[in-house]
Amino acid sequence: MGIKPKIVIIGAGFGGIELAKAFRNKPVDVLLINRNNYHNFQPLMYQVATGGLEPGSIAYPIRRIFRRYKNVTCRMADVFEADVPQNQLLTSIGNIAFDFLVIATRSQNNFFNFEPIKEKLLTLKSIPDALNIRSFLFQNLEKALTNRGEESLEEIFNVAIVGGDLLDWNWQEHWPK
Ligand SMILES: Cc1cc2nc3c(=O)[nH]c(=O)nc-3n(C[C@H](O)[C@H](O)[C@H](O)COP(=O)(O)OP(=O)(O)OC[C@H]3O[C@@H](n4cnc5c(N)ncnc54)[C@H](O)[C@@H]3O)c2cc1C
Repeated sequence: MGIKPKIVIIGAGFGGIELAKAFRNKPVDVLLINRNNYHNFQPLMYQVATGGLEPGSIAYPIRRIFRRYKNVTCRMADVFEADVPQNQLLTSIGNIAFDFLVIATRSQNNFFNFEPIKEKLLTLKSIPDALNIRSFLFQNLEKALTNRGEESLEEIFNVAIVGGDLLDWNWQEHWPK
């Protein structure tokens, strides 16, 4: 049997994971690279941000998802650059060669009209983001307890949420098994 083509997928979000699964038992070798060694289940991130769930409940080990996939290997690394003419990636764990490359590194935060004040905003795209929001909310609750009128309670408590979707979406169907 000849050498199998090597498909490198950057990003183990829903997109990268579903694609890697589709290559199961196919005559290819898949390397899935992700910045963290866990998949971040974004739909429940609001629960971490508001103290309803612990971060570990929405962080699923990527290698566990692929433990029965003989042709899928996982690596934790940051990809810095793709050298397409040379068919290789420059990453935090060295250069990685590929025959085919898939970039599934998600969308970015869009601040729309809030771009000028984005440094002051809290975003919700990663587990560290969710923990930042949580810590901010809890610190404000503590502040409110000892507040003797120095600050208005409204200022401490009010939270403005920008963005979000109302989706009829069953997350349990998508939770990795
Ligand atoms: C708070 C929140 C709630 C949501 N709720 C819902 C919902 O209820 N229903 C719904 O349908 N959608 C929801 N979404 C949207 C959904 O989560 C995204 O559309 C989906 O996660 C996008 O998948 P993806 O694979 O494209 O990217 P992601 O899931 O973002 O995955 C990209 C991966 O690439 C990795 N990565 C990025 N750059 C690099 C790099 N340079 N090197 C290595 N790794 C890298 C990241 O670490 C990440 O793991 C929500 C999103 C958020 C933020």
